[in-house]
Amino acid sequence: MEALNSLLVLLNEPLVQFFLWTAVLYIIASVFVDRRVAFWIGLVSATAFWIKIHGASVALKGWGIVVAVLLIVLGIKKLFHLNVVLLLKGRKRCPLCWETAHRKALICPYCGHRFSSQEGAGE
Ligand SMILES: [Zn+2]
Repeated sequence: MEALNSLLVLLNEPLVQFFLWTAVLYIIASVFVDRRVAFWIGLVSATAFWIKIHGASVALKGWGIVVAVLLIVLGIKKLFHLNVVLLLKGRKRCPLCWETAHRKALICPYCGHRFSSQEGAGE
C-alpha cells in the first residue's frame, strides 16, 4: 500500500505526467516512423499540448532534463570516447564500415574487419 501511495504521489507530479505524455506520444509515433524521430515528435507534441493546458514552466523543466541527459551522453562520448547508448545495447561500432557489431565480436560481420583488443564497447 505504501509503495502504491508513493507511486500515486509521483504520478501527480506534473513533471512525471509530462514525461508520461511524451512516452505515450512516442509509442504512438514509433508505429509510423523511426524511433529517434518518434522520440522528438513525442517530446515536441507533448510540449505543445502541455503549454496549451498547463503553461510553459513544467515543459521547460522537462526540456532541461532532456538536454542535460543529452549533454551528459555527448560529454562522455567526447571525453572518454565511449558511446553510452551503444554500451547499454551491448554493441560496438566498426571503425571501418561504421556498422554496429556485438560487444564481444572479434570480426566485424559486415566488412570482416578484425577488432583489436582496445576497440571495446562504444566508439
Ligand atoms: Zn565493419
